[in-house]
Amino acid sequence: MDRPPVRLRPKRVVVVMDGAADEPQEELGGLTPLQAAQLPHADAIARDGICGLAKTVPDEMEPGSDVATLAILGYDPRRYHTGRAPLEAASLKVPLGREDVAFRCNLVTCDGSVLLDYSAGEVSTDEAHVLIGMIEQKLSTRSVQFYSGISYRHIMVWRDGSAEVQTTPPHDIMGRPIEPYLPHGDGEDMLRQLMFDSLEILDSHDINRRRRDEGKPPANMIWLWGQGRACILPPFAVERGVTGAVVAAVDLVRGVGECAGLSAPKVEGATGNLETDFGAKAEAALALLERYDFVLIHVEAPDEASHQGSPERKVWAAEQIDKHIVGPVAEHLRAVPESRLMILADHYTKISTRTHAREPVPFAVSGHPRDEAEGFDEQSAAQTGRFLEEGWRLVELLFAG
Ligand SMILES: [Zn+2]
Repeated sequence: MDRPPVRLRPKRVVVVMDGAADEPQEELGGLTPLQAAQLPHADAIARDGICGLAKTVPDEMEPGSDVATLAILGYDPRRYHTGRAPLEAASLKVPLGREDVAFRCNLVTCDGSVLLDYSAGEVSTDEAHVLIGMIEQKLSTRSVQFYSGISYRHIMVWRDGSAEVQTTPPHDIMGRPIEPYLPHGDGEDMLRQLMFDSLEILDSHDINRRRRDEGKPPANMIWLWGQGRACILPPFAVERGVTGAVVAAVDLVRGVGECAGLSAPKVEGATGNLETDFGAKAEAALALLERYDFVLIHVEAPDEASHQGSPERKVWAAEQIDKHIVGPVAEHLRAVPESRLMILADHYTKISTRTHAREPVPFAVSGHPRDEAEGFDEQSAAQTGRFLEEGWRLVELLFAG
């Protein structure tokens, strides 16, 4: 006897290969890492679907995953990006009122005049938790509070504070005198005072005495930067008509998801570095697709390889994503009519400079008429002639009828 067919709702999945786009590399025989990598699943999407270049980072903005992830989820970064710290605050579920300003609060190593390490030797979360607790106890007031996060990455909230102050990312000034890079402008006195007070409190802390004994850099100062007011987004569910989730190990990306009203669970085994468990992310995404119709999977590994300056590791990272994530997800979606899968790099991270860059990124979306790209890479995407100036409209390709 015939049963009426079960109507499955179409699913939309985005796989973000963080920083995967790059220039041709001498070590790779003149190919880019995406060209050199074996990416059978991503190549198939580019060949059979639409493929092109998209500007995920507007001209006047800093290229990074905060700006790019907003764009990928359909939010114009020029309109909605308020800073990096508010997004990380959201991932830690730190409440921000309209007048509050969130600052990223790094634990750094400083000898009092030179910034020696922006991550205090990637101080452990347990040690950091105690140190930030100490800072909260000694330095918090009615208007300033501290929230501990992961490793060296923490948050300070300044109630009714100033966001109009110039600050500097500590990873940009390693080994340099701090004086020219201290907060500058409205609110500088209080912020500088907090930073120098923290040095006095933390430098002689037992944890730092022990770290010195063990030959590790002490986590002896806070560095405040990346500030902004709350990031207020129209909910993704209202914008696109579906609920969804974000699978990411990076606070910044999970924070964008939180701000968009998406679920952003922590995934066991997903670490945000080269050893991340690629398969665990795919499994988590497939489980979330039981409940949700949209999932964004973010993988940090190619970006990490670029910051390390390693073409081989970057190729390897892209291949792992293709094999353990794009392949299984594409397979899963084949069984659900009208589903679509988009793959893209969120921004360039160049091995040559070991840092982010703003060129338009390659993307490919399944389930559309063919652009007949040769594969998923920068050059093939450019050759199709398809170019999205407003990268934040990419998401429309996923949801368009
Ligand atoms: Zn990066």
